[in-house]
Amino acid sequence: MKRYIDTHTHLYDADFADDIEDVISRAGNEGVISCIMPGIDMESHRGLMKLASEKPGFTHPATGLHPTSVNASWERELSFVYDNAADKSYVAIGEIGIDGYWSREFIEEQSVVFQKQLELAASLSLPVIIHSREATEEIFAVLDKTRHLGIQGVFHAFSGSPETYKRIRSYGNFLVGIGGVVTYKNSKLPATLAGIPIEHILLETDAPWLTPVPYRGKRNEPSHIPLIAAKIAETKGCSIDEVAEITTENAIKLFRLKI
Ligand SMILES: [Zn+2]
Repeated sequence: MKRYIDTHTHLYDADFADDIEDVISRAGNEGVISCIMPGIDMESHRGLMKLASEKPGFTHPATGLHPTSVNASWERELSFVYDNAADKSYVAIGEIGIDGYWSREFIEEQSVVFQKQLELAASLSLPVIIHSREATEEIFAVLDKTRHLGIQGVFHAFSGSPETYKRIRSYGNFLVGIGGVVTYKNSKLPATLAGIPIEHILLETDAPWLTPVPYRGKRNEPSHIPLIAAKIAETKGCSIDEVAEITTENAIKLFRLKI
């Protein structure tokens, strides 16, 4: 039986409130043995931790202030992350980063918050989950400043160019999270994947968003992970088994999961 890990899923989102048990059992039926749930902000924190405590082993929580939640009260939000980050159940600091797509109003603050959370991750020896959207240069400017910290992590929802991938690797052991976008008709991602070894790839859904083909337009969920693995296997000319085995191993190693 294939084993997969969905390394980025928001199962605590309101979209799953009515049928979370079904969603989890469908994921299990497809071979998904574990899910990483990144944090967003104070408001969503309680729901995330509740689900993490109800499904230990299957769900693993991360904590972080998401760039789109950086607003006028960012200092309070950031203190909240700092205050509870030492909780041993967290497998990562994330998701953190910079998002220039939704709004650039707090773009300077986003950089500050990103850097502080990278430093926090380094002090706790935790990997990071990076959200980068229309902010590649801003992200790299911060990573240039924190290069000496030896941080590891993943660039979630990676859809960049081969050059961007190369630059990401220059910062150390950073993997790329590949999700539903790889199945989209005009995606350039399959071409980029040709130059990325499976050892540097993590599978993720970003559920409830970024649903892969043929379910695009509907709610995404972890049971769709094999569709992403199949597309990667096709692109790289290898078996789905190989994609499942290696990406699962990558996730276990990066997040130090006890599975
Ligand atoms: Zn996310």
